[in-house]
Amino acid sequence: MFEKIIKSLKKPSGKCFNHPNKDALSFCHACMRHYCEHCLIEGPKYYYCNADACLKLYSQEVDYSRTPRFCSQCLSETIDAPSGDIISVNLIGDKFVCENREECPTCGAVVLEKIGPILGRKGSYKVIWLNSDKSTFISRKLK
Ligand SMILES: [Zn+2]
Ligand SMILES: [Zn+2]
Ligand SMILES: [Zn+2]
Repeated sequence: MFEKIIKSLKKPSGKCFNHPNKDALSFCHACMRHYCEHCLIEGPKYYYCNADACLKLYSQEVDYSRTPRFCSQCLSETIDAPSGDIISVNLIGDKFVCENREECPTCGAVVLEKIGPILGRKGSYKVIWLNSDKSTFISRKLK
C-alpha cells in the first residue's frame, strides 16, 4: 500500500503510453511504461497495465496477497525452519500430530508435533493449512 502511494505521488515522466494526449498517473510495475488512470490496473501493491505479460504478473501478485501468512505474534514465537515434507495418513514418513492447542485467532496457525516413523518426536511447528484437504501448508518451528 505504502509503496503504491509513493509511486502514484512520484511525478510521472510524461504521458500515457496508450494515450499520448493524457497525462500519466503512474507506471506499470512490470514493463515500467507510464499510463493514465484508465490504462492501469490496481494490484494489492503495484499498478499494472493490461499487456499480457504484465497481467500475468498482476495475477501473481493478487494470488500472493491471498496466501495466508503467519501473524507477527506467531512469527515471534517461531524460527524460519520449515518442517519439510509431511506424508499424509497411512503412509510411512513424517507426520503431524495435533498437540491439542488452540488455533491462533489472528492467522489461524495451529501447533503440531512432527513425528517420524523411527525417531519419533521431531519438534513442534506452527502450521497454517493452505487448503481444506490439508495437503499443502506453511510451517515454522517453535522456539
Ligand atoms: Zn505493463
Ligand atoms: Zn491511457
Ligand atoms: Zn498467529
